[in-house]
Amino acid sequence: MAITQLKHYHSLTIESAISLAKDLSLFDPSENLTCEEIGDGNLNYVFRIASSESGKSIIIKQALPYAKVVGESWPLTLDRARIEARALTLQRSLAERLVPEVYHSDEQLAITIMEDLSHLEIARKGLNKGEIYPSLSKDIGEFLGATLFFTSDYALHPFKKKGYVKEFSNPELCKITEDLVFTDPFFNSETNEFEQALEEEVRNLWDDLPLKLEVAKLKRSFLTEGEALLHGDLHTGSIFAGKEETKVIDPEFAFYGPIGFDLGQFLANLIFQAVVREEKPKKEEILRHIETTWDVFESTFSQFWDQSEDAYTKIDGYLEYVLEKSFADTIGFLGCELIRRTIGLAHVEDLDSVQDEEKRVLYKKTCLALGRECILERHRIRSIQDLLDKLI
Ligand code: ADP
Ligand code: MG
Ligand code: MG
Ligand code: MG
Repeated sequence: MAITQLKHYHSLTIESAISLAKDLSLFDPSENLTCEEIGDGNLNYVFRIASSESGKSIIIKQALPYAKVVGESWPLTLDRARIEARALTLQRSLAERLVPEVYHSDEQLAITIMEDLSHLEIARKGLNKGEIYPSLSKDIGEFLGATLFFTSDYALHPFKKKGYVKEFSNPELCKITEDLVFTDPFFNSETNEFEQALEEEVRNLWDDLPLKLEVAKLKRSFLTEGEALLHGDLHTGSIFAGKEETKVIDPEFAFYGPIGFDLGQFLANLIFQAVVREEKPKKEEILRHIETTWDVFESTFSQFWDQSEDAYTKIDGYLEYVLEKSFADTIGFLGCELIRRTIGLAHVEDLDSVQDEEKRVLYKKTCLALGRECILERHRIRSIQDLLDKLI
C-alpha cells in the first residue's frame, strides 16, 4: 500500500499497521513482521510491531475519532495526536533521557510512531506490585523542572512563547479535565462513580461550600494561567519505569497552564500508594519519592532560573514567589486529583484493586479527607515536610 493512499484518516488494523511501517521504511522490506494491539489506555489504539529477525520493534499510537473507553457516542478530536507528537518532540528536546524518541508522525492519520518501551513497566502497575524504582522521583522532578521552565516566559522570547500557546491550544482535552477533575466530582453528576459505603462522605463534599469556593479558584487557575507547557495527564499510568530508567509518555492533554498542575497530579498518584501501603518501610519508600519529586523539581527549576535573561528573574524574591505560588497550587491540584480518582469517572487501580472491602473503603475515606484538607489548607501547608506529616 502506498503512503499516498493512506493519507485520509482510517483506523489502522494489524495488517495496515504493518504495511504502513514498511512503506515508511522503518523496517527492511524482507523482514517478517508481527503486530499486536497493546493499548490499555482509555482513548487510543497502540500497536507494537516487531521483527523476529532483527529484534527491532516500534510503537504506532493512533487516535480514534472518539474515546475508546466509551465508544462512538463520545466523539473526540483527532487533533490530540498532533498535540501528542509535538509535545513528545518538544519535551524530548528539553529532557532527552526521559522521553521516547518519535520516529514519525502524521496528522491526517492521527498517528505517532515512537520508540518501543516494552522493556520497562508502567509505573502504576509496577508500584502496585511493590516494584522499586530508585530513580523515579528524581527523574520526574528533573522532567518537570526542565519542561516547565523552558516552555515558560521565564525562559522564552515572548513571540516564541505565544507561538507555543497557539500551537498547543487543546480545548477538547482541556474540557475533559475541567469537567472530570474540577467540576463533576464536586456536584451530583452522572459521571461520578463510588461505592455505597462512601455516600455520606460524598454528600458532605457536595454540600461543602467553602471547599467548592477553593475548587472554583483552582479551576480558574487551570483555565486562565498559561504559565508553561504542561504534560496535562501526568499520573503514574503515563510513566514507564525501570530500575535505572524513566520515560514519560502520553502527553495528548498538553496545553499551557499553571506549573503546579503536573506536580499535583503526579504527587497525588504517589499518595494513593502511600495510603494503601501499611508496612512502614514500604510506605516510607513512597514518602521519599514525594519529597524527592518536589526537591528535585525545585532545584532544577532554580538552576535554570539563574541562567535566565529576563530582567525580572534577577530581582530578589521573584523566584521565591513563583516557587511558593507553584507549591500552594500543587497542593490544591493534588487535592482535586485525590478526590476525583476516588469518586469521579476515572478511578485508579491502586485503590480499586484492594480486595478487602473494609480496608478499601477506609483508604478511600482517607483520600477524600486528605484531598479536602489539601484544597482548603494549601496556603498553610508550607513545605513538602508539612505534607508528609499528614501522610504518616
Ligand atoms: P492512552 O492515551 O490511550 O492512555 P497511552 O499512550 O497511555 O495511551 O498508551 C496505552 C498503553 O500502551 C500504555 O499503558 C502501554 O502499555 C502501551 N504503550 C504506549 N506507548 C508505548 C511505548 N512507547 N512502548 C511500549 N508500550 C507503549
Ligand atoms: Mg495513557
Ligand atoms: Mg510492557
Ligand atoms: Mg492518553
